[in-house]
Formats: sequence, structure tokens, C-alpha cells
Amino acid sequence: MTSETITLPTSEQIARAPKVLLHDHLDGGLRPGTIVELARANGYGGLPESDPEKLGTWFREAADSGSLERYLETFAHTCAVMQTRDALARVAAECAEDLAADGVVYAEIRYAPEQHLEKGLTLEEVVEAVNDGFREGERRARANGHRIRVGSLLTAMRHAARALEIAELANRYRDFGVVGFDIAGAEAGYPPTRHLDAFEYLKRENNHFTIHAGEAFGLPSIWQALQWCGADRLGHGVRIIDDIEVSDDGEVKLGRLASYVRDKRIPLEMCPSSNLQTGAAPSYAEHPIGLLRRLQFRLTVNTDNRLMSGTTMSREFAHLVKTFRYTLDDMQWFTVNAMKSAFIPFDERLAMINDVIKPGYATLRSEWLFPQTGSTPSATTGSGPA
Ligand SMILES: [Zn+2]
Repeated sequence: MTSETITLPTSEQIARAPKVLLHDHLDGGLRPGTIVELARANGYGGLPESDPEKLGTWFREAADSGSLERYLETFAHTCAVMQTRDALARVAAECAEDLAADGVVYAEIRYAPEQHLEKGLTLEEVVEAVNDGFREGERRARANGHRIRVGSLLTAMRHAARALEIAELANRYRDFGVVGFDIAGAEAGYPPTRHLDAFEYLKRENNHFTIHAGEAFGLPSIWQALQWCGADRLGHGVRIIDDIEVSDDGEVKLGRLASYVRDKRIPLEMCPSSNLQTGAAPSYAEHPIGLLRRLQFRLTVNTDNRLMSGTTMSREFAHLVKTFRYTLDDMQWFTVNAMKSAFIPFDERLAMINDVIKPGYATLRSEWLFPQTGSTPSATTGSGPA
């Protein structure tokens, strides 16, 4: 007699599954040990802890505290130790290595060049140092048997007035490691329309950009990012849920904006653990990703800030598998969505999907056909036939 059961991927399978990451901040993903070493080497005395393990805990707790001041303080520390060429290259190399070891095959990592000028680097020197680091990380990953490609997104800060300058920088380096542009920072009080000149410039240059919108702030922010600024993707976008009505009998009604987002296949860069920390969602079970997945929005799964959230791509998926009983098919769906939404050229995205992602999931799915069982019915207890 045989029975068919739906098996959920194990944590080991989740780790080996090919994954694609579109929303991850370079200054939010440092190794705690690297922060300690860079602080010492660069004479930065502001760290709250000098033991790497305690420092890692401090970052997670500060991000969990619900206090915006403490949350922002975490980035003050990471940016403080990322002010030299060597430090930036090291952080970028380790980022690529860590992601590759976690099974990420393609990543777009974002950072704000304007936050790394305190010790005299120019914007161009910042971009080139990070590029060098990513190439070094890709090489080291390959030497360890992993394959990863990493592109950069250049971020402008919403509260600052350098968006056009950073957009021009992104355009200048678009064939040299930079694949797009982003704006980040506090949403309330700083609508994306403040930076219309930057977005209009990028559109005229046929370039790509994503906008942090619909995380802390609701539908107006998403609407502006799409209909005024012309964003290709939305960073978070979880508040799109506010335009979806679910009645008691389970009937679902999409508003005009939610319909537009779904109809136009606008990619949403979901970051579940980060949303829990900032209060954008109350729990994994209540995270809008569950409903949006059922409604077939173009969803992607991301880490946002691996250090502050103590997370990895595998950990994000492990939470989703546990909460929503997602299978390898679901994981592949999220991963293909992300690859379709990447900013590299179409032919390269297609090759990643067909030659890397789908074969990777096919291998994992076929493993149940080759179970590693003992030669007797109960070999470990010794109660089987001798
Ligand atoms: Zn973000």
C-alpha cells in the first residue's frame, strides 16, 4: 500500500535550494566579528559591545525594541566602520560569501554611497570599493563550491537632497556592477515625489529603480511610488493589503490600486522578519504574504537587514514553510518571481531561471525517490530479522 503525503522541505533542503534576493542592505548585513575588527582598526570607539556574540545580540535587541532611535542607532554603528576603501570591500566580499553559503544564486544588494564619505572617499570610490568586494566575494564563493552573482542598487536617502546626483551615479556605473536605484529612509513626511527629478532622469535613461513604499506608511505612498514616480518594484509594499477587503464568507475584493499592482505584475519585495520588528505586521501567521500569495501577487521573499533581524534567506523561508506549510513548489514560485523581477537583462534572467533555479528545485524534488534507508526494517533498534 502506498500513500501520498505532502512533505515540507527540511531546513537542510531549504538551505540547498537556489534562492534569489532583491532587497538586502549592505550596511544591515555585516558579520558582528567584522564590525568589532573594523572598529578597532579604524579607531571607532562607539560600539556598545566589544564581544562579537554580545554585539550580534545587541543589534537584534535594538531592532526589536520598537524604538526608532535605537533602530537607527544600529545603522550609525555599521556605517561608522564602513568609511574606508578596504572596509567597504571587505564587507561586500563577506556579504557575497555569506549569501552564497546560504544558497543564494543571485542578489541585488543596496547601499547609500552618500553615507560612506566621512573619511574623504568620493562617491565613485565608494561604488568601486563595493564592486571590488562583490567580485572578490563571488570568487571566494566559487572556490568554496558555490555560485553567486551580485549586483548593486544605489540608494538615495529620502530626507536628503542628493537623489538626482545618486541617480546619475547609478546610471554612470550601470554596466559596471550597478543594476539600479532605490530610495530609502523614513516614509512619513518624505514622500517619494520629493525626488521626482531623479526618477524622471532614470526613466529618460531607460534605467531601473525600486522605491521603499508601503512599509510604515500606507496606500498613498505606494500610489505615489507607482503612478507619480514610475517605480519598477516596491520595497515592502505590504500595506497594499489595506486596499483588499476580505468578507466574513471569504469573498475577496481588490480596490483599484491593489488590482493595478496585481494586474501589472508589480513585484513586491516582502521582508517578513523585518516587518515584524518594525510593526508593519504583527506575526508571521498574520503577515499579508499569506493572503497575497493566495491572490497571486508577484511576491518575492527577502531579508532586508540580516544583522538586525538575525536572519538569512533560509531562515525567512523556514518561517514561511512552518507558518503557511509552503512546499518546494511554493519556494520555487517565489524564487522565479524574484528572478523575473531582477534588474539584469531578460536573457540573463531567463538563463538563471531555466539553467540554475528550475534544475536546482527539480533535484530537490526528486530526492524522495532515492531514500537512504537501512537494509533491515528496523536496523537501529536491532528488532528486525537477523
Ligand atoms: Zn529596506
